[in-house]
Amino acid sequence: MRNVLVVLSGPSGVGKGTIAKQLVERNKDISLSISCTTRKPRDGEVDGREYFFIEKEKFLSKIETDGFLEFSNHFENYYGTPKDFVLDKLVKNDVLLEIDVNGGLNVKKSYPDAVLIMITPPSIEELEKRLIKRNTESIEKIKLRMQRIDYELEKSNLYDYTVVNDDLGKAIEEVEQIINKEKNIDN
Ligand code: 5GP
Repeated sequence: MRNVLVVLSGPSGVGKGTIAKQLVERNKDISLSISCTTRKPRDGEVDGREYFFIEKEKFLSKIETDGFLEFSNHFENYYGTPKDFVLDKLVKNDVLLEIDVNGGLNVKKSYPDAVLIMITPPSIEELEKRLIKRNTESIEKIKLRMQRIDYELEKSNLYDYTVVNDDLGKAIEEVEQIINKEKNIDN
């Protein structure tokens, strides 16, 4: 059995954060990677838990020293996967990354054994409802995010698997089955 690097992607509000959190709670062998970002914490977010919240200067110098497995800049902020953090964890555990589509495809380029899973909503209307209900962003920001959804879903054919998050419990089980299957594949 090998330890797998699993990438979970999908449009904002699709529930990938909840899926990731519950997967880690249910499976001691899976650890969640923590990304760095230059965006400000939202209410309830804690540094070192949801993200490492760092200043732009620090982020840029980490890029210079090749400190990211991948990084991107969207919604006017930088997001990146810290390389050492992930590779260290992967020695002992499966590691879950919750990142955007381009990030996932970049990880696959530098780490081809990564398993890419796209979480999709049952419908676009449902997703918009969830984003508005979450109430963490202005309507303008939500519109921006909605524009990105078509793009993200279009890329799902480049992912290894697609899981529809219609029923949360079922979606989690499906992801668990994929991980267990992949752990038993020799590369
Ligand atoms: P949010 O600001 O809502 O937490 O995240 C915005 C977007 O950034 C989401 O699509 C999220 O998946 C993505 N993201 C979070 N961490 C990373 C990362 O390390 N790398 C990349 N490329 N995207 C990330």
